Amino acid sequence: MTVFPSVFVSHGAPILVLEDGAAHQFLLRFGNTLGRPSAIIVASAHWATAAPAVCSVNAPKTIHDFSGFPRALYELTYRAPGAPALAQRASELLSKAGIDCALDQNWGLDHGAWVPLLMMYPAVDIPVMQIALQPQMGTQHHYALGRALAPLREAGVSILGSGGATHNLRQLGSPDAQPPAWASDFSDWLHDTIAAGGTEALLNYRALAPKAAQNHPTEEHLLPLFVAAGAGSCARGRRVHTSTTYGSLMMDAYAFD
Ligand code: ZN
Repeated sequence: MTVFPSVFVSHGAPILVLEDGAAHQFLLRFGNTLGRPSAIIVASAHWATAAPAVCSVNAPKTIHDFSGFPRALYELTYRAPGAPALAQRASELLSKAGIDCALDQNWGLDHGAWVPLLMMYPAVDIPVMQIALQPQMGTQHHYALGRALAPLREAGVSILGSGGATHNLRQLGSPDAQPPAWASDFSDWLHDTIAAGGTEALLNYRALAPKAAQNHPTEEHLLPLFVAAGAGSCARGRRVHTSTTYGSLMMDAYAFD
């Protein structure tokens, strides 16, 4: 059984799926690079709940959770099979780790999940389930979610965090602008810390990383990174992509072996 690295990708704006660019090209290649998992668990920045939950539906619906984009984006769907048995197994592993987890029957795939999946796995034939974030519970909690799910990797399951390496929608530039220093410095810090296996520093990024609050006015787009890091079998991660869109939106991706 192939063990896949757990990964974190930045999904940018939903239009990423339709517009060419460095991150789009990367995601088109990345699924092939990784290979074909038996199922995919996605921790997306766009599903937040008060308490831990995994979505256990048979056929997750495509959620178009954005507004103001071209009609073509609303016509896209990602009708992958769900993974209810895997959701059950995930909730058992979380319970074993002391984390009570609900089986949700209402969610589906939000754009944080289906936008990268449509590029990475366009055949839409791999079962997918989402795990919710609890943004009020911080980095350590999300790292623990990843830790609890890590054994599933041994069964060929891929764990995918989808958010943004930086995410300040009030300070965007033009689509092709270079990143401002406050964003690239933060991206460099993430890279250096993850490459060095600095888990403690990473978990404490809000105090230690340059301009952390400016890059993440709210944390939800970075929290999927902690799920991916927690699911890795060693502390060090590899940056497998870096680029930028709209100036300050760093599109970096990481893999944790
Ligand atoms: Zn997003």
